[in-house]
Amino acid sequence: MPRRRKQFPCGHQGYGQVCHRCAQLQDAKAREATEREQARLERQQWQATFADDLIDLQGLPKTIVLKARQVIAELVAGTDYRQFKGKRLNHDRSVISIPLTYDYRLICHDVGDRIEPRSVLSHEEYNVKKPRG
Ligand SMILES: [Zn+2]
Repeated sequence: MPRRRKQFPCGHQGYGQVCHRCAQLQDAKAREATEREQARLERQQWQATFADDLIDLQGLPKTIVLKARQVIAELVAGTDYRQFKGKRLNHDRSVISIPLTYDYRLICHDVGDRIEPRSVLSHEEYNVKKPRG
């Protein structure tokens, strides 16, 4: 029996019970929706991790957030800031600037018995508003 192309209600032409073009389109849409949902969940999970941070790290690039968390955890555990190439500022010795990358600095304050992380600044922010004690 020769196969005959037929016109589906959607307007496409083809063989078989259902329009393969529309079926494919629907598959792609479903996949897209799944991926979007997955991405949304990942974003949500990522957002939730900020609740545990000592300082606000939201809005920073992910690699900076992860690096900052690692350094902060080690500082809190008692690691000397100089191990991270941290330096005291000349105009305020109680402020310590620790490079996270070339572009970002973790600003800490020496409160006497310990080092307190205060904020992460980009290179530009850092140069504009020099942190004060
Ligand atoms: Zn179709």
